[in-house]
Amino acid sequence: MTTLFISDLHLEANRPEIGKQFLSFLDGEARDAEALYILGDLFEIWLGDDDPNLYYTGIKVAIRRLTDSGVPVFFMHGNRDFLIGKIFSNETGVEILNDPVIVDLYGQSVLLSHGDTLCTDDIQYQKIRTMTRNPDWQAMMLAKSLEERIAFSVQARKDSMTHNSSVGAEIMDVNLEAVVSMLRKFGTSIMLHGHTHRPDIHNIDLGNQLATRIVLGDWFEQGSVVRWDENGPRLEVMIR
Ligand code: MN
Repeated sequence: MTTLFISDLHLEANRPEIGKQFLSFLDGEARDAEALYILGDLFEIWLGDDDPNLYYTGIKVAIRRLTDSGVPVFFMHGNRDFLIGKIFSNETGVEILNDPVIVDLYGQSVLLSHGDTLCTDDIQYQKIRTMTRNPDWQAMMLAKSLEERIAFSVQARKDSMTHNSSVGAEIMDVNLEAVVSMLRKFGTSIMLHGHTHRPDIHNIDLGNQLATRIVLGDWFEQGSVVRWDENGPRLEVMIR
């Protein structure tokens, strides 16, 4: 049996080809999986579980089909869909995970994260992250009308694009010290995350041992998946 990992699909009605690929993945390969882990940014934007967005409703129904078929599905928040909450979880049957979390995969202890907390060089982003993950801030945001939330998200997106084009590519990647300290803190030698859209497998020297950092890619041009079984992980693309 294989455990599947994906992240950074950035689903939205304007990118229907990603959704199509995701739906055939859910109704195909994922049906035979031991479990599916979605490591954040499944959606381009999540305004709250009360958003009546019909496109997202279709996605939720498809995820429900998978969990109803008996495949456990786990979700970790990304920086786009951090407002996903209990209602989404109840509707889809998905279990929401903390970030980071340690899971046991075929006898190996693996750290899972969305990955944005590792990008510590981007100080401005980390400030915004701290603010938007505060439960009080989230309650304040969710109490606003949908129109107000849309206006806020449009502005936040503009600000983010301005910021991202002003900082270097290095700044927006993970910080090696942050990676090392997270691995040491949790006592693991293998981690898997998304967020940076730089699919790769990195070896990290922890001094006393070698560690591995696997990075999932986004789904803009093709699917990206980690297939993990008793032989270990494989980072692979899914052409569409
Ligand atoms: Mn992200």
